[in-house]
Amino acid sequence: MASSTLEIDNLITVGALAEQLKIPPAQLIGELFKNGMMVTVNEKIDFDTAQIIITELGLDIELKLREAEAPILKKDRSTLGANAKTRPPVVAVMGHVDHGKTSLLDAIRGASVVKGEAGGITQHISAYQVEKEGRLITLLDTPGHEAFAALREHGARLTDLVVIVVAADDGIKPQTLEAIRFARKAGVKMLVAANKIDKEGADLNRLKSQLAENELMPEDFGGDTVVLPVSAKTGQGVQELLDMILLLADVEDLKADYDGPAEGLVIESHMEMGRGPVAEALVESGVLHAGDYIVAGAAYGKIRNLDSTSGTVLKEAGPSTPVVISGMKSLPEFGDVFLVYKDEKSARQASEKAATIAKNSTSKLDMSSSDLLRIISQEDEQSTLNIIVKADVQGSLTSVIDSIRTLETKDVSVKIVSSGVGNITENDMHLALTSKSILYGFHVALPSGVKQLIARDKVQVRLYKVIYELLDDVKAEMVTLLPPEIIEKDLGRLIVKGVFKTTKSDIICGGEVTKGKLTAPSLAKIFRDKELLAEAEVTLLKRGPVETSEVQTGEMCGMSLKTAGRVDLQEGDRIELFTRETVARTL
Ligand code: GDP
Repeated sequence: MASSTLEIDNLITVGALAEQLKIPPAQLIGELFKNGMMVTVNEKIDFDTAQIIITELGLDIELKLREAEAPILKKDRSTLGANAKTRPPVVAVMGHVDHGKTSLLDAIRGASVVKGEAGGITQHISAYQVEKEGRLITLLDTPGHEAFAALREHGARLTDLVVIVVAADDGIKPQTLEAIRFARKAGVKMLVAANKIDKEGADLNRLKSQLAENELMPEDFGGDTVVLPVSAKTGQGVQELLDMILLLADVEDLKADYDGPAEGLVIESHMEMGRGPVAEALVESGVLHAGDYIVAGAAYGKIRNLDSTSGTVLKEAGPSTPVVISGMKSLPEFGDVFLVYKDEKSARQASEKAATIAKNSTSKLDMSSSDLLRIISQEDEQSTLNIIVKADVQGSLTSVIDSIRTLETKDVSVKIVSSGVGNITENDMHLALTSKSILYGFHVALPSGVKQLIARDKVQVRLYKVIYELLDDVKAEMVTLLPPEIIEKDLGRLIVKGVFKTTKSDIICGGEVTKGKLTAPSLAKIFRDKELLAEAEVTLLKRGPVETSEVQTGEMCGMSLKTAGRVDLQEGDRIELFTRETVARTL
């Protein structure tokens, strides 16, 4: 029996495996080299290779293959009751910045949204419903890139459909690809809105080809991706977009239980003067009533006011309805599931239990709600620094972000997970925690409630008043993400004049040094003419019968080598000695 077990994915980077095995990456790389695999820290090896190497290393660890994670966190349809009825689709709009997400949402809503003081930057996800021919559509309002990380975490549970907005005059851009990847991984259907079709440079065909290149084959190319030309400016195509959303919803046959106690997700929460904790939530199943006792995470209370997100007083709200709730005793958190309880006592007990679990869990990231985030962020975890930036005014925010962008290199990128004007809020903290970001504040304050959270959640918050100091900090963080560089230094060369012993793992030979200076211990490549026969470790050098640490050009010497398998060394073969070092890199 192995003394411990380790669960890994089918593909794992050498660096990550070394970390999990708690051995230096160089040791692992060395072992892989010995087995004929020339890999660097960042390259991935598969499970079988990892297993072999662990045995070779003599580690007492049993390796287990991690089961593939379920890509979809959406409710299992089979759990629906017999009375389940059709519910409105929940739709998220995503795409590259400036491609017109906000404008399109405005056009759908039929009114221009009054932009907030913070230059229109929205810190949270909110939601509202629109009606089309008597049917409702729930839209998640996620203007800008800010709520993206948060949406990623809960997106699969929240959304049925993602509308990818692409400016037809600009085509697919990095954030478009990110949105596509998000939707694909979450298993959510996509619909492409080719926006700005009114503009002169709009090129629908080019966009369709780009979509095809990214495995979103448009319908008229023989695929099944719907691409609708729209203009948020003129309103062209907006009604067709809504029709298409409803059509796709019909195809998906979206249903929910309307009977039974309500259940849903908190999508935003804040304190309001005179009202106390206020939460915005999306009902997922059942019907929520004013006066219900609810528990969301560690918060509980009786719903005092139940409103629609546009401010209408509601008596009840069914599946896919976004609601605003007041009356809770404390603030629930973004992403908390809410449930209805029969009375105050059972609600309080449930919330106390949730609070204990939260306290005992080392990190919220361990909780299941972040499974999706983990799946999605896995592939770009390496060498991407996640950052949240808050600044006092829009001008400084823009310059901080622009300056951070200039620091990016081909090896390390920076992802601005969220940014905004104003003090650091609990929402920022939550986002930093779930997206593993560092929170940078520029000329902003840290309210005392948030300070407490830092201690509890160990979120990295850095406040600066001088921009280049902030940039130095970002740079220092980026450097820590750089994979170490592996440098090979040639030592010298030996021509084999005699082979004294070869076994499965050892060679003893002698020869003449024809170049450089040989030292041991070191590494060696064994060549026959141009062909590389093997790599080996040089364990010992001898001048005559005496062990020595170095031998110069022109001298004869004996050499002991360790090999990964039998190497049939012959007179005349060439052994090139070298050392391999991993060095920390700089940007
Ligand atoms: P977002 O960053 O994706 O939310 O993009 P916005 O909605 O803020 O739009 C970015 C810019 O594109 C704004 O100046 C809009 O007025 C403009 N815009 C958005 N949609 C259209 C469109 O359909 N046609 C034209 N001509 N301009 C548009």
